[in-house]
Amino acid sequence: MLSGKSAIVTGSTSGIGLGIARGLAAQGANVMLNGFGDANEIEHIRAELAGLHNVKVVYNGANMADGASITGMMAAAAEEFGGVDILVNNAGIQFVAPIEEFPVEKWDAIIAINLSSAFHTTRLAIPHMKAQRWGRIVNIASAHALVASPFKSAYVAAKHGIAGLTKTAALEVAEHGITVNAVCPGYVMTSLVEKQIPEQAKARGITEQQVVSDVLLAAQPTKRFVTTEELAATVNFLCTDAAQSITGITLPVDGGWTAH
Ligand code: NAD
Repeated sequence: MLSGKSAIVTGSTSGIGLGIARGLAAQGANVMLNGFGDANEIEHIRAELAGLHNVKVVYNGANMADGASITGMMAAAAEEFGGVDILVNNAGIQFVAPIEEFPVEKWDAIIAINLSSAFHTTRLAIPHMKAQRWGRIVNIASAHALVASPFKSAYVAAKHGIAGLTKTAALEVAEHGITVNAVCPGYVMTSLVEKQIPEQAKARGITEQQVVSDVLLAAQPTKRFVTTEELAATVNFLCTDAAQSITGITLPVDGGWTAH
């Protein structure tokens, strides 16, 4: 369905981004992977995806905290693919602490990686999309783009910022065949969530098991984690022509969390 299209998925060496990259490749898109990790493991994933779906899969290790690095990645994608048709801004990190104890460098890193990187990739992707009169930008936001939780000041601020960027960009490119949407997942069991369980336990003074049952899944009426496959299917749908009138939305995929 997406054969002939080329995609970048930032932060796609694990978790949700990897699931989305798998989903796009399965639809026939060429994919640029990005993110950190073990070089051998990343090469294994790259070769596996390319072989499984007979598409071009390349890897670029650009740091999403660094504007110049992002510019280099977008230039590499233009060289590999002739331009990016599908941009998925997914790279993200988390840190959990009360505001008065929140490390300033963590605030800066979260705003850079979770918010500013999407501004840079978007501004650099739009000219090619406009020239093609087709483009799909999908920002992986969070239920935290719509509601807040205590101890996540930087993350919630960045994700609310992504919702604003999504709406603004959607308005600017609406007449050019380009859609810009945010997907807002509830909790997905990835390394980002695993790492915050001990932090949440410390900030709240409860056990790690209580964090899973009383904090994470308590927010999600379905009482189950969202899966990376469900999110990949959502992104694939937003990339179809059937979704061409869907733009500027913040789409919860959160097991009912934000219905509260
Ligand atoms: P993850 O830790 O499994 O994956 C994060 C990815 O981002 C990895 O590939 C990592 O290498 C990459 N990354 C981190 N810092 C980077 C940097 N500076 N430059 C380039 N790449 C970098 O986490 P995940 O849960 O898959 O998170 C992916 C996105 O989904 C994030 O934006 C996160 O906020 C969002 N999200 C996650 C959940 C959840 O419950 N897991 C819920 C809602 C939204």
